[in-house]
Amino acid sequence: MGNTAYNVRIIPNLPSLNYTMTETTSTPATVAELSDFSSFNLHSALQEALTKNGFEKPTPVQQRTIPASLTRQNLLVSAKTGSGKTLAFLLPTLHNLLINPNYYAGTRALVLVPTRELAQQIFLQCQQLLDGTALNVGLITGGEDFKKQQNMFRKNTAVIIATPGRILELLTLDTAPFENLETLILDEADRMLDMGFSEDVLTIAKNCNENRQTLLFSATLTHAGVLKMADKVLKKYELIALNTLRDELPHIQQQIVLADDNAHKQQLLAWLLKNETFEKALVFSNSRLQATALCDPLRAAGVRATVLHGDMDQKERQRVMKLFRDGVVNVLVATDLAARGLDIKGIQIVINFEVPRNGINYIHRIGRTGRSDETGVTITLVKHTEWNLMAGIERFLRQSFIRRNIKELAGKFQGPKKLKASGKSVGGKKKIEEKKEKVEKVKVRDRDKKNVGKRRAPTPKVTAE
Ligand code: ADP
Ligand code: MG
Repeated sequence: MGNTAYNVRIIPNLPSLNYTMTETTSTPATVAELSDFSSFNLHSALQEALTKNGFEKPTPVQQRTIPASLTRQNLLVSAKTGSGKTLAFLLPTLHNLLINPNYYAGTRALVLVPTRELAQQIFLQCQQLLDGTALNVGLITGGEDFKKQQNMFRKNTAVIIATPGRILELLTLDTAPFENLETLILDEADRMLDMGFSEDVLTIAKNCNENRQTLLFSATLTHAGVLKMADKVLKKYELIALNTLRDELPHIQQQIVLADDNAHKQQLLAWLLKNETFEKALVFSNSRLQATALCDPLRAAGVRATVLHGDMDQKERQRVMKLFRDGVVNVLVATDLAARGLDIKGIQIVINFEVPRNGINYIHRIGRTGRSDETGVTITLVKHTEWNLMAGIERFLRQSFIRRNIKELAGKFQGPKKLKASGKSVGGKKKIEEKKEKVEKVKVRDRDKKNVGKRRAPTPKVTAE
């Protein structure tokens, strides 16, 4: 499945899932298997510290994050405050350091957090876990002795818990304190963004060992900037989302409207734009071509619409954005790429003309509405070939969309007759397999017609090289 834009591999939310949103290869172990910290086989010092401090069972975010992190993958983890994210990153990180002692490697793990108080708290927790081991941990925040902090690098302090500001200052003095860094952790990324640390964090990340593991933790995925930061700092990563969509966006109602085909969708779209009340509406399409094609009929139907897509030059984009911002047009038809990071007030409705290709795109899209707690509604038009994709997104985001019928434009498609426990249509997979077979058969015939056994002539590009 195409997911090239983000390079994300998504770990499904529930252990028993039988679908994959993208090319994920890891099957999460079941909750039952991981009901105790001892099942992670953590370094004995860590296990002892857990027992000593009364921690018995991992919380859900720990169950999901620890095994994935132990394999040194990059992760973006979203889970509510108080869900136990600190141990979720400290345990696997410290384990990986402990099983591979290296006393002269300089700083091996760096945890960046938004505030001094939080840094202090994590520092103490880290000390507790490392009690009796040869690993040392340092605290670097503003307001403390600069020279002493500078010395930490010289003393090969293995783990550093810090706020971004002071680290940045120290970076200007020491050329490469993080060149051997094994793990970079950004905790409370959403808060760091709110506090204006975005650039600082990016600069620090750039100064860290390129081959490090990076873990990004946030209380929410829908915060403007978290996914953007993940794209920049993590590049390729797995997503572990513990929040339901309702947790994330309680003030946005998620609806679906079933449609027979694209022509029917077009009628539904025009109807919705004429009958819903909103200041501004955003319509998403999966392709530039479709986005452009949608606009004219809407205008002909009296809707003040315009289009925004990635092929337009910067000037043109800005012109369109201004028209939309100023309310000269109140409907913007856009592609995913064009709408990334769009922050415009008054968007109360988002319509997905097509089901987005994956859950991350869905979050990106709907995050455009309901900004700063305004209420909003999102409506996804779903035809039968998109049913399973929609069901996958529902399951990934752990939310049932509200099914809405529009009487005036009632269609024939009322959803699959039989559904699996996953919400997908029964027989859907078989059909796809049959289709694949057909394609393969065509290929065989095609080859038969050509020079059997001979290699194809290399393409001109290959010959030129
Ligand atoms: P978050 O970072 O997600 O807001 P914290 O890591 O600060 O959450 O943990 C919140 C509280 O839960 C802390 O007091 C912590 O000691 C406690 N806690 C974390 N993990 C566990 C666990 N597995 N069992 C019991 N308590 C836990
Ligand atoms: Mg925390």
